[in-house]
Amino acid sequence: MSKNGQRLFRNFDPYITSPFGYRINPISNERSLHAGVDYGTNGKKIPCYGLTIGEVIKTGFQKALGNYVYINYPSLGHGALYQHLDSIKVKKGEKVTKDTVIGITGATGEVTGIHLHFGWFPSSDINKDWYSINFENYETYEFPVEVSIIGTPTSRDLFKDQIEVLISNLRLRDNPNGKILGYIRKGIYNILDNKIDAGYTWYKIGNNMWIAYTSEYGKLYLKEEIKEEPPKKEVANNSEIDTTEEEKIEKDEINNDYQNNDKETEDDTKIREDEPKIGGFRAFFQKLFEFFKKILKKLGIM
Ligand SMILES: [Zn+2]
Repeated sequence: MSKNGQRLFRNFDPYITSPFGYRINPISNERSLHAGVDYGTNGKKIPCYGLTIGEVIKTGFQKALGNYVYINYPSLGHGALYQHLDSIKVKKGEKVTKDTVIGITGATGEVTGIHLHFGWFPSSDINKDWYSINFENYETYEFPVEVSIIGTPTSRDLFKDQIEVLISNLRLRDNPNGKILGYIRKGIYNILDNKIDAGYTWYKIGNNMWIAYTSEYGKLYLKEEIKEEPPKKEVANNSEIDTTEEEKIEKDEINNDYQNNDKETEDDTKIREDEPKIGGFRAFFQKLFEFFKKILKKLGIM
């Protein structure tokens, strides 16, 4: 039984005749890395298929590999090598899908019988030569759940932190850097939480649903700050709009009066410029009060 092998065939569940890993090579008798998984096909020549959307990078024949095909599957982050094919059914540069027949299993190259040797490696190795490729065990690869659309976008809400997904195939994971659940559709999602992991900011957009943010794929909308209530005014009708020319002149007079009599006032005036408006008016009315007190004193009433 195999976990991922059946994806390479139709109506056929292949068995593993030789797993990925170190083994004694049946041809050379030397211990070496078996850089792929061998799938037995009951000695039959049957079609093997693409895994998903991909591109044929190279096809050919080589003494050990037999008829081979290299395909890149960017959405899986991996490249694949189909070996020992009886015949090749694709051409270099051709786009493939999971319904494309890549070739017919065979026994070309260094083999002991008909089987498909399937190599699996990071897409970044796709243009390297065979000896430089970092082959991995295809059987332990976790395929994304085959759901192309997960999540229901919402609409823009000014009072929520939100993220707009700009592409239709952004990876959705169960955790930052966790398992790929599938791909998310374009649209606006509420941000429930965020984390920084492996150099990315991750946003939680649902229960166990995380996406990585890049400005290329996403657009952030931060909630609008709820405006704070302005501090209560001490004196009624004292807004800026209500300030009449008369009051302004009066204010200047007071300032002049103080500047003439009190040096401290000069500094006070400067500071007041940076103060919020309300504070300024409060100070103004305090001075106005002092001013009247002074007059009243002069007149001998107080
Ligand atoms: Zn093999």
